[in-house]
Amino acid sequence: MTLSVLSVASEAFPLIKTGGLADVVGALPEALAPHDIAVTTLIPGFPKVMRAIGEDAPRVHHWTHIIGTEAWLREAMIGTHRLLVIEAPQLWEREGLPYVDTAGNDWHDNWRRFAVLARAGADLASGAVPGYDFDLLHAHDWQAALAPAFLHYAPGPGPVAKSIVTIHNIAFQGSFAAHHFPDLGLPPEAWSVEGVEYYGQIGYLKAGLRTADAITTVSPTYAEEIHRAQYGMGLEGLIAARAECVSGIVNGIDPAIWSPTADAALPAPFTVDTLDDRIANKRAVEQAFGLEQDDSPIFTVISRLTWQKGMDVLVEVIDDLVALGGQLVVLGTGDPALEIAFATAALRHPGRVAVRIGYDEPVSHLLQGGCDAIVIPSRFEPCGLTQLYALAYGCVPVVARTGGLADTIIDANEAALAMGVPTGLQFDNVTTNNIVAVLRRTMRLYADQDQWRTMQVNGMNADYSWHHSGRHYAELYRSVLGNP
Ligand code: ADP
Repeated sequence: MTLSVLSVASEAFPLIKTGGLADVVGALPEALAPHDIAVTTLIPGFPKVMRAIGEDAPRVHHWTHIIGTEAWLREAMIGTHRLLVIEAPQLWEREGLPYVDTAGNDWHDNWRRFAVLARAGADLASGAVPGYDFDLLHAHDWQAALAPAFLHYAPGPGPVAKSIVTIHNIAFQGSFAAHHFPDLGLPPEAWSVEGVEYYGQIGYLKAGLRTADAITTVSPTYAEEIHRAQYGMGLEGLIAARAECVSGIVNGIDPAIWSPTADAALPAPFTVDTLDDRIANKRAVEQAFGLEQDDSPIFTVISRLTWQKGMDVLVEVIDDLVALGGQLVVLGTGDPALEIAFATAALRHPGRVAVRIGYDEPVSHLLQGGCDAIVIPSRFEPCGLTQLYALAYGCVPVVARTGGLADTIIDANEAALAMGVPTGLQFDNVTTNNIVAVLRRTMRLYADQDQWRTMQVNGMNADYSWHHSGRHYAELYRSVLGNP
Protein backbone atom coordinates (compact mmCIF):
# COMPACT_ATOMS: atom_id res chain seq x y z
CA MET A 1 0.00 0.00 0.00
CA THR A 2 1.30 3.45 -0.85
CA LEU A 3 1.97 5.51 2.25
CA SER A 4 1.40 9.21 2.25
CA VAL A 5 3.82 11.21 4.39
CA LEU A 6 3.89 14.92 5.16
CA SER A 7 7.42 16.12 5.84
CA VAL A 8 7.34 19.42 7.75
CA ALA A 9 10.47 21.54 7.97
CA SER A 10 11.79 25.07 7.84
CA GLU A 11 14.29 24.33 5.05
CA ALA A 12 14.48 22.16 1.94
CA PHE A 13 17.29 22.12 -0.61
CA PRO A 14 17.43 23.62 -3.23
CA LEU A 15 14.73 26.12 -2.22
CA ILE A 16 16.07 27.34 1.09
CA LYS A 17 19.12 26.11 3.00
CA THR A 18 21.17 27.14 5.99
CA GLY A 19 22.60 23.71 6.83
CA GLY A 20 22.43 19.96 6.56
CA LEU A 21 18.74 19.89 7.54
CA ALA A 22 17.85 21.28 4.12
CA ASP A 23 19.82 18.59 2.33
CA VAL A 24 18.01 15.85 4.21
CA VAL A 25 14.53 17.30 3.77
CA GLY A 26 15.22 17.90 0.09
CA ALA A 27 16.40 14.33 -0.43
CA LEU A 28 13.70 12.42 1.46
CA PRO A 29 10.99 12.39 -1.25
CA GLU A 30 13.34 10.82 -3.80
CA ALA A 31 14.82 8.43 -1.24
CA LEU A 32 11.41 7.10 -0.22
CA ALA A 33 9.75 6.90 -3.64
CA PRO A 34 11.25 3.45 -4.37
CA HIS A 35 9.60 2.19 -1.17
CA ASP A 36 6.12 3.14 -2.32
CA ILE A 37 6.05 6.14 -0.02
CA ALA A 38 4.85 9.48 -1.37
CA VAL A 39 6.42 12.35 0.54
CA THR A 40 4.87 15.82 0.40
CA THR A 41 7.07 18.58 1.85
CA LEU A 42 5.63 21.55 3.75
CA ILE A 43 7.84 24.63 4.20
CA PRO A 44 7.36 28.32 4.97
CA GLY A 45 7.04 30.82 2.15
CA PHE A 46 10.37 32.58 2.55
CA PRO A 47 11.04 35.07 -0.28
CA LYS A 48 13.39 32.66 -2.06
CA VAL A 49 10.79 29.91 -1.88
CA MET A 50 8.00 32.15 -3.18
CA ARG A 51 10.20 33.22 -6.09
CA ALA A 52 11.07 29.61 -6.88
CA ILE A 53 7.48 28.39 -7.02
CA GLY A 54 6.28 31.48 -8.87
CA GLU A 55 2.90 33.14 -9.12
CA ASP A 56 1.44 30.18 -10.97
CA ALA A 57 1.53 27.84 -7.98
CA PRO A 58 -2.16 27.77 -7.04
CA ARG A 59 -3.52 28.77 -3.68
CA VAL A 60 -5.24 25.65 -2.42
CA HIS A 61 -6.32 26.70 1.04
CA HIS A 62 -6.95 29.83 3.06
CA TRP A 63 -6.61 30.23 6.81
CA THR A 64 -8.32 33.37 8.05
CA HIS A 65 -6.71 32.82 11.42
CA ILE A 66 -3.87 30.41 12.06
CA ILE A 67 -2.16 31.28 15.34
CA GLY A 68 -3.47 34.80 14.85
CA THR A 69 -2.28 35.15 11.27
CA GLU A 70 -3.88 35.08 7.84
CA ALA A 71 -2.21 32.56 5.55
CA TRP A 72 -2.64 30.67 2.32
CA LEU A 73 -1.38 27.32 1.23
CA ARG A 74 0.21 27.07 -2.18
CA GLU A 75 0.95 23.86 -3.99
CA ALA A 76 3.76 23.21 -6.47
CA MET A 77 5.62 20.25 -7.87
CA ILE A 78 9.36 19.73 -7.48
CA GLY A 79 10.04 17.11 -10.12
CA THR A 80 7.51 14.44 -9.32
CA HIS A 81 7.11 15.40 -5.66
CA ARG A 82 4.49 17.63 -4.13
CA LEU A 83 5.56 20.76 -2.30
CA LEU A 84 3.26 22.80 -0.07
CA VAL A 85 4.21 26.33 0.90
CA ILE A 86 2.65 28.51 3.58
CA GLU A 87 2.19 31.99 2.24
CA ALA A 88 2.02 34.46 5.11
CA PRO A 89 3.93 37.57 4.02
CA GLN A 90 3.85 39.19 7.44
CA LEU A 91 5.74 36.19 8.86
CA TRP A 92 8.16 35.17 6.16
CA GLU A 93 8.75 37.91 3.64
CA ARG A 94 11.59 39.80 5.31
CA GLU A 95 15.16 40.77 4.67
CA GLY A 96 17.51 38.60 6.70
CA LEU A 97 17.96 34.92 7.30
CA PRO A 98 15.29 32.33 8.11
CA TYR A 99 15.78 32.49 11.87
CA VAL A 100 17.59 35.75 12.52
CA ASP A 101 17.33 39.35 11.44
CA THR A 102 20.04 41.28 9.62
CA ALA A 103 21.68 42.07 12.97
CA GLY A 104 21.89 38.38 13.77
CA ASN A 105 19.21 38.38 16.50
CA ASP A 106 16.46 35.78 16.61
CA TRP A 107 13.28 37.13 15.03
CA HIS A 108 11.10 38.38 17.90
CA ASP A 109 8.11 36.41 16.64
CA ASN A 110 9.85 33.08 15.95
CA TRP A 111 7.42 31.52 18.42
CA ARG A 112 4.55 32.48 16.10
CA ARG A 113 6.33 31.82 12.81
CA PHE A 114 7.10 28.22 13.69
CA ALA A 115 3.86 27.62 15.55
CA VAL A 116 2.14 28.50 12.26
CA LEU A 117 4.34 26.04 10.38
CA ALA A 118 3.54 23.29 12.87
CA ARG A 119 -0.17 24.13 13.08
CA ALA A 120 -0.45 24.07 9.28
CA GLY A 121 1.24 20.66 9.27
CA ALA A 122 -1.13 19.37 11.95
CA ASP A 123 -4.15 20.73 10.05
CA LEU A 124 -3.02 18.94 6.90
CA ALA A 125 -2.46 15.72 8.82
CA SER A 126 -5.78 15.70 10.66
CA GLY A 127 -8.41 16.49 8.09
CA ALA A 128 -8.68 20.26 8.60
CA VAL A 129 -7.58 21.08 5.05
CA PRO A 130 -10.02 19.62 2.52
CA GLY A 131 -8.44 17.41 -0.13
CA TYR A 132 -5.39 16.40 1.92
CA ASP A 133 -4.90 13.21 3.82
CA PHE A 134 -1.69 11.78 5.28
CA ASP A 135 -0.79 8.58 7.09
CA LEU A 136 2.16 10.09 8.86
CA LEU A 137 3.60 13.49 9.73
CA HIS A 138 7.39 13.71 9.86
CA ALA A 139 8.49 16.84 11.75
CA HIS A 140 12.08 18.03 11.48
CA ASP A 141 13.76 19.89 14.35
CA TRP A 142 12.20 22.39 16.74
CA GLN A 143 10.74 24.54 13.98
CA ALA A 144 8.25 21.79 13.12
CA ALA A 145 8.17 19.93 16.43
CA LEU A 146 4.98 21.47 17.79
CA ALA A 147 3.08 19.62 15.04
CA PRO A 148 2.87 16.29 16.95
CA ALA A 149 1.72 18.22 20.05
CA PHE A 150 -1.06 19.85 18.02
CA LEU A 151 -2.03 16.43 16.66
CA HIS A 152 -2.07 15.06 20.18
CA TYR A 153 -3.94 17.83 21.96
CA ALA A 154 -5.88 19.72 19.29
CA PRO A 155 -6.20 17.77 16.05
CA GLY A 156 -8.44 18.66 13.17
CA PRO A 157 -11.78 16.95 12.46
CA GLY A 158 -10.53 13.98 10.41
CA PRO A 159 -8.39 10.91 10.98
CA VAL A 160 -5.17 11.84 12.77
CA ALA A 161 -1.85 10.90 11.22
CA LYS A 162 0.89 9.23 13.26
CA SER A 163 3.94 11.38 13.89
CA ILE A 164 7.71 11.25 14.00
CA VAL A 165 10.16 13.91 15.12
CA THR A 166 13.69 13.90 13.75
CA ILE A 167 16.34 15.71 15.74
CA HIS A 168 18.94 17.14 13.40
CA ASN A 169 20.57 19.05 16.24
CA ILE A 170 19.36 18.91 19.84
CA ALA A 171 21.26 22.10 20.67
CA PHE A 172 18.49 24.07 18.99
CA GLN A 173 15.31 23.57 20.99
CA GLY A 174 12.95 26.47 20.37
CA SER A 175 12.07 27.62 23.89
CA PHE A 176 9.69 30.55 24.21
CA ALA A 177 8.06 32.62 26.96
CA ALA A 178 5.16 30.98 28.73
CA HIS A 179 2.87 33.94 28.08
CA HIS A 180 2.56 32.85 24.45
CA PHE A 181 0.87 29.62 25.51
CA PRO A 182 -2.73 30.91 25.20
CA ASP A 183 -2.00 32.00 21.62
CA LEU A 184 -1.17 28.46 20.57
CA GLY A 185 -4.76 27.28 20.90
CA LEU A 186 -3.81 24.24 22.93
CA PRO A 187 -6.05 23.04 25.77
CA PRO A 188 -4.96 23.87 29.34
CA GLU A 189 -3.83 20.29 30.02
CA ALA A 190 -1.09 20.74 27.41
CA TRP A 191 0.63 23.06 29.88
CA SER A 192 2.32 20.32 31.86
CA VAL A 193 5.54 18.38 32.09
CA GLU A 194 3.80 15.75 29.99
CA GLY A 195 3.06 18.38 27.35
CA VAL A 196 4.72 21.55 26.13
CA GLU A 197 6.01 23.02 29.41
CA TYR A 198 9.80 23.01 29.61
CA TYR A 199 11.56 24.59 32.59
CA GLY A 200 8.81 27.21 32.85
CA GLN A 201 8.80 27.97 29.14
CA ILE A 202 7.16 26.51 26.05
CA GLY A 203 9.56 23.97 24.60
CA TYR A 204 8.81 23.29 20.95
CA LEU A 205 11.29 20.46 20.51
CA LYS A 206 10.46 19.14 23.96
CA ALA A 207 6.74 19.08 23.11
CA GLY A 208 7.41 17.11 19.93
CA LEU A 209 9.67 14.62 21.69
CA ARG A 210 7.01 14.10 24.35
CA THR A 211 4.09 13.56 21.98
CA ALA A 212 5.44 12.02 18.76
CA ASP A 213 4.99 8.31 18.10
CA ALA A 214 8.68 7.90 17.35
CA ILE A 215 11.87 9.94 17.62
CA THR A 216 14.81 9.68 15.31
CA THR A 217 18.09 11.40 15.07
CA VAL A 218 20.61 11.37 12.30
CA SER A 219 23.14 8.79 13.43
CA PRO A 220 23.15 5.83 15.83
CA THR A 221 26.01 7.26 17.91
CA TYR A 222 24.24 10.61 18.34
CA ALA A 223 21.07 8.71 19.31
CA GLU A 224 23.11 7.19 22.15
CA GLU A 225 24.98 10.37 23.05
CA ILE A 226 21.82 12.41 23.62
CA HIS A 227 20.88 10.13 26.51
CA ARG A 228 23.72 11.83 28.40
CA ALA A 229 23.81 15.34 29.86
CA GLN A 230 26.94 16.29 27.89
CA TYR A 231 25.02 16.00 24.62
CA GLY A 232 21.34 16.03 25.60
CA MET A 233 21.36 19.75 26.45
CA GLY A 234 18.68 19.36 29.10
CA LEU A 235 16.53 16.90 27.14
CA GLU A 236 18.52 13.80 28.15
CA GLY A 237 15.94 12.80 30.78
CA LEU A 238 13.11 12.88 28.27
CA ILE A 239 15.18 11.03 25.70
CA ALA A 240 15.98 8.35 28.27
CA ALA A 241 12.31 8.11 29.28
CA ARG A 242 11.38 7.49 25.65
CA ALA A 243 14.44 5.39 24.83
CA GLU A 244 12.33 2.64 23.28
CA CYS A 245 11.17 4.88 20.46
CA VAL A 246 14.52 6.63 19.82
CA SER A 247 16.66 5.49 16.91
CA GLY A 248 19.38 6.86 14.66
CA ILE A 249 19.45 6.84 10.86
CA VAL A 250 22.51 8.25 9.12
CA ASN A 251 21.82 10.79 6.38
CA GLY A 252 22.57 9.89 2.82
CA ILE A 253 24.01 12.03 0.07
CA ASP A 254 22.37 12.84 -3.22
CA PRO A 255 24.52 11.56 -6.11
CA ALA A 256 22.72 13.87 -8.54
CA ILE A 257 24.33 16.77 -6.67
CA TRP A 258 27.45 15.17 -5.21
CA SER A 259 29.23 13.03 -7.76
CA PRO A 260 32.84 13.71 -8.82
CA THR A 261 32.24 12.08 -12.19
CA ALA A 262 29.72 14.73 -13.18
CA ASP A 263 30.21 17.93 -11.25
CA ALA A 264 30.16 21.22 -13.11
CA ALA A 265 32.20 22.83 -10.32
CA LEU A 266 35.19 20.55 -10.98
CA PRO A 267 37.58 21.44 -13.83
CA ALA A 268 38.55 17.75 -13.91
CA PRO A 269 35.79 15.27 -13.09
CA PHE A 270 37.19 11.90 -11.98
CA THR A 271 36.22 8.42 -10.87
CA VAL A 272 37.82 5.99 -8.48
CA ASP A 273 39.71 4.61 -11.51
CA THR A 274 40.96 7.99 -12.68
CA LEU A 275 42.04 9.45 -9.35
CA ASP A 276 45.22 10.80 -10.93
CA ASP A 277 43.07 13.32 -12.80
CA ARG A 278 42.16 14.84 -9.46
CA ILE A 279 45.43 16.77 -9.39
CA ALA A 280 43.98 19.24 -11.90
CA ASN A 281 41.37 20.17 -9.32
CA LYS A 282 44.07 20.67 -6.72
CA ARG A 283 45.85 23.03 -9.11
CA ALA A 284 42.55 24.90 -9.57
CA VAL A 285 42.18 25.27 -5.80
CA GLU A 286 45.74 26.58 -5.51
CA GLN A 287 45.09 29.08 -8.23
CA ALA A 288 41.71 30.20 -6.98
CA PHE A 289 43.03 30.72 -3.46
CA GLY A 290 46.53 31.99 -4.22
CA LEU A 291 48.30 29.03 -2.61
CA GLU A 292 51.86 28.05 -3.45
CA GLN A 293 51.94 25.10 -5.78
CA ASP A 294 53.94 22.25 -4.25
CA ASP A 295 53.51 18.69 -3.02
CA SER A 296 52.15 19.51 0.41
CA PRO A 297 48.68 18.34 1.34
CA ILE A 298 45.93 20.92 1.27
CA PHE A 299 43.55 20.66 4.20
CA THR A 300 40.15 22.24 3.89
CA VAL A 301 37.39 23.37 6.22
CA ILE A 302 33.85 23.87 4.87
CA SER A 303 31.80 24.75 7.85
CA ARG A 304 29.83 27.06 10.01
CA LEU A 305 32.52 28.83 12.03
CA THR A 306 31.14 28.03 15.47
CA TRP A 307 31.96 26.51 18.83
CA GLN A 308 30.01 23.34 17.96
CA LYS A 309 32.27 22.79 14.99
CA GLY A 310 35.40 23.19 17.14
CA MET A 311 36.51 26.15 15.06
CA ASP A 312 37.80 28.07 18.08
CA VAL A 313 40.28 25.25 18.69
CA LEU A 314 41.19 24.72 15.06
CA VAL A 315 42.05 28.37 14.57
CA GLU A 316 44.59 28.00 17.38
CA VAL A 317 46.56 25.29 15.57
CA ILE A 318 46.89 26.93 12.17
CA ASP A 319 50.51 27.86 12.83
CA ASP A 320 51.23 24.22 13.74
CA LEU A 321 49.49 23.00 10.59
CA VAL A 322 51.71 25.25 8.50
CA ALA A 323 54.83 24.25 10.48
CA LEU A 324 54.04 20.61 9.76
CA GLY A 325 54.09 21.42 6.04
CA GLY A 326 50.37 21.59 5.34
CA GLN A 327 48.31 24.18 3.54
CA LEU A 328 44.78 25.20 4.50
CA VAL A 329 41.72 26.59 2.73
CA VAL A 330 38.77 27.64 4.86
CA LEU A 331 35.29 28.32 3.49
CA GLY A 332 32.78 29.35 6.09
CA THR A 333 30.69 31.90 7.90
CA GLY A 334 29.63 32.20 11.48
CA ASP A 335 30.81 33.70 14.72
CA PRO A 336 32.23 37.15 13.80
CA ALA A 337 35.18 36.76 16.21
CA LEU A 338 36.12 33.47 14.56
CA GLU A 339 35.75 34.95 11.08
CA ILE A 340 38.29 37.59 12.08
CA ALA A 341 40.60 35.04 13.72
CA PHE A 342 40.68 32.91 10.58
CA ALA A 343 41.16 35.90 8.29
CA THR A 344 44.06 37.05 10.47
CA ALA A 345 45.68 33.62 10.30
CA ALA A 346 45.53 33.82 6.49
CA LEU A 347 47.34 37.17 6.61
CA ARG A 348 50.10 35.57 8.71
CA HIS A 349 50.61 32.77 6.17
CA PRO A 350 50.28 34.06 2.62
CA GLY A 351 50.51 31.25 0.10
CA ARG A 352 49.93 28.64 2.81
CA VAL A 353 46.57 29.55 4.31
CA ALA A 354 43.57 31.04 2.52
CA VAL A 355 40.24 31.96 4.05
CA ARG A 356 37.02 32.82 2.29
CA ILE A 357 34.28 34.11 4.53
CA GLY A 358 31.06 33.34 2.77
CA TYR A 359 28.64 30.65 1.72
CA ASP A 360 29.34 29.25 -1.73
CA GLU A 361 28.05 25.89 -2.95
CA PRO A 362 30.19 25.62 -6.13
CA VAL A 363 33.35 26.49 -4.20
CA SER A 364 32.50 23.84 -1.62
CA HIS A 365 32.37 21.30 -4.45
CA LEU A 366 35.72 22.44 -5.83
CA LEU A 367 37.33 22.18 -2.40
CA GLN A 368 35.99 18.66 -1.87
CA GLY A 369 37.24 17.62 -5.29
CA GLY A 370 40.64 19.30 -5.08
CA CYS A 371 41.86 19.36 -1.48
CA ASP A 372 43.57 16.37 0.07
CA ALA A 373 41.87 16.26 3.46
CA ILE A 374 38.99 17.92 5.27
CA VAL A 375 39.25 18.71 8.98
CA ILE A 376 36.06 18.37 11.04
CA PRO A 377 36.86 18.89 14.74
CA SER A 378 33.25 19.07 15.95
CA ARG A 379 32.50 18.98 19.66
CA PHE A 380 29.31 17.21 18.71
CA GLU A 381 27.99 16.27 15.29
CA PRO A 382 24.54 14.72 14.93
CA CYS A 383 25.40 13.32 11.50
CA GLY A 384 27.54 15.66 9.48
CA LEU A 385 27.38 15.78 5.71
CA THR A 386 30.71 17.29 4.75
CA GLN A 387 32.59 14.11 5.69
CA LEU A 388 30.24 12.11 3.46
CA TYR A 389 30.78 14.44 0.50
CA ALA A 390 34.51 14.26 1.21
CA LEU A 391 34.47 10.45 1.09
CA ALA A 392 32.74 10.55 -2.29
CA TYR A 393 35.27 13.08 -3.61
CA GLY A 394 38.50 11.41 -2.48
CA CYS A 395 39.14 14.10 0.14
CA VAL A 396 40.22 12.27 3.30
CA PRO A 397 38.16 13.19 6.40
CA VAL A 398 40.05 14.00 9.61
CA VAL A 399 37.32 14.02 12.23
CA ALA A 400 36.49 14.15 15.92
CA ARG A 401 35.15 10.83 17.20
CA THR A 402 31.58 11.90 17.91
CA GLY A 403 28.06 11.38 16.54
CA GLY A 404 27.79 10.68 12.85
CA LEU A 405 31.50 11.31 12.36
CA ALA A 406 32.22 8.28 14.57
CA ASP A 407 29.69 6.21 12.61
CA THR A 408 30.81 7.02 9.08
CA ILE A 409 34.62 7.23 9.15
CA ILE A 410 36.93 4.26 9.67
CA ASP A 411 40.05 5.45 11.45
CA ALA A 412 43.43 4.61 9.96
CA ASN A 413 44.68 2.81 13.07
CA GLU A 414 47.17 0.00 12.74
CA ALA A 415 44.58 -2.75 12.59
CA ALA A 416 42.53 -0.94 9.95
CA LEU A 417 45.64 -0.17 7.92
CA ALA A 418 46.71 -3.82 8.09
CA MET A 419 43.30 -4.83 6.78
CA GLY A 420 43.30 -2.08 4.14
CA VAL A 421 39.95 -0.66 5.28
CA PRO A 422 40.45 2.90 6.63
CA THR A 423 38.63 5.84 5.12
CA GLY A 424 39.98 8.68 7.26
CA LEU A 425 41.34 9.65 10.67
CA GLN A 426 39.57 10.10 13.97
CA PHE A 427 40.67 11.71 17.21
CA ASP A 428 39.17 11.98 20.70
CA ASN A 429 38.36 15.21 22.53
CA VAL A 430 38.73 18.47 20.70
CA THR A 431 41.88 20.04 22.16
CA THR A 432 44.75 21.79 20.44
CA ASN A 433 47.11 18.95 21.39
CA ASN A 434 44.83 16.31 19.96
CA ILE A 435 44.30 18.20 16.72
CA VAL A 436 48.01 18.74 16.26
CA ALA A 437 48.57 15.03 16.92
CA VAL A 438 46.03 13.97 14.32
CA LEU A 439 47.43 16.46 11.79
CA ARG A 440 50.87 14.96 12.37
CA ARG A 441 49.44 11.48 11.83
CA THR A 442 47.73 12.72 8.65
CA MET A 443 51.02 14.12 7.33
CA ARG A 444 52.71 10.74 7.92
CA LEU A 445 49.98 8.89 6.05
CA TYR A 446 50.09 11.41 3.22
CA ALA A 447 53.82 10.79 2.87
CA ASP A 448 53.00 7.19 1.98
CA GLN A 449 51.02 7.72 -1.20
CA ASP A 450 49.98 4.06 -1.39
CA GLN A 451 48.29 4.23 1.99
CA TRP A 452 46.76 7.56 1.12
CA ARG A 453 45.39 6.20 -2.13
CA THR A 454 43.89 3.24 -0.25
CA MET A 455 41.98 5.61 2.02
CA GLN A 456 40.72 7.63 -0.93
CA VAL A 457 39.58 4.54 -2.80
CA ASN A 458 37.87 3.09 0.28
CA GLY A 459 36.07 6.36 0.85
CA MET A 460 34.92 6.64 -2.75
CA ASN A 461 33.67 3.06 -2.68
CA ALA A 462 31.76 3.54 0.59
CA ASP A 463 28.06 3.77 -0.15
CA TYR A 464 26.47 6.70 1.64
CA SER A 465 23.79 7.26 -0.94
CA TRP A 466 20.19 7.54 0.22
CA HIS A 467 19.67 3.95 -0.78
CA HIS A 468 20.29 2.60 2.76
CA SER A 469 18.92 5.53 4.71
CA GLY A 470 15.75 5.57 2.60
CA ARG A 471 15.18 1.91 3.42
CA HIS A 472 15.63 2.58 7.15
CA TYR A 473 13.14 5.45 7.10
CA ALA A 474 10.68 3.33 5.11
CA GLU A 475 10.97 0.55 7.69
CA LEU A 476 10.48 3.00 10.53
CA TYR A 477 7.44 4.64 8.92
CA ARG A 478 5.82 1.28 8.36
CA SER A 479 6.54 0.08 11.87
CA VAL A 480 5.04 3.25 13.38
CA LEU A 481 1.94 2.59 11.30
CA GLY A 482 1.74 -1.01 12.48
CA ASN A 483 3.25 -2.45 9.31
CA PRO A 484 0.44 -1.89 6.82
P1 ADP B 1 25.45 21.61 9.83
O1 ADP B 1 24.13 21.23 9.25
O2 ADP B 1 25.60 21.37 11.29
O3 ADP B 1 25.92 22.99 9.44
P2 ADP B 1 26.48 19.50 8.09
O4 ADP B 1 27.86 18.98 7.84
O5 ADP B 1 25.44 18.47 8.43
O6 ADP B 1 26.58 20.63 9.20
O7 ADP B 1 25.97 20.26 6.81
C1 ADP B 1 26.55 21.44 6.38
C2 ADP B 1 26.13 21.66 4.94
O8 ADP B 1 26.35 23.02 4.60
C3 ADP B 1 26.92 20.86 3.95
O9 ADP B 1 26.12 20.65 2.81
C4 ADP B 1 28.10 21.79 3.64
O10 ADP B 1 28.71 21.53 2.40
C5 ADP B 1 27.40 23.12 3.61
N1 ADP B 1 28.22 24.26 3.97
C6 ADP B 1 28.61 24.66 5.19
N2 ADP B 1 29.30 25.82 5.12
C7 ADP B 1 29.35 26.16 3.82
C8 ADP B 1 29.89 27.27 3.09
N3 ADP B 1 30.51 28.25 3.71
N4 ADP B 1 29.73 27.29 1.75
C9 ADP B 1 29.09 26.28 1.12
N5 ADP B 1 28.54 25.22 1.75
C10 ADP B 1 28.66 25.16 3.08
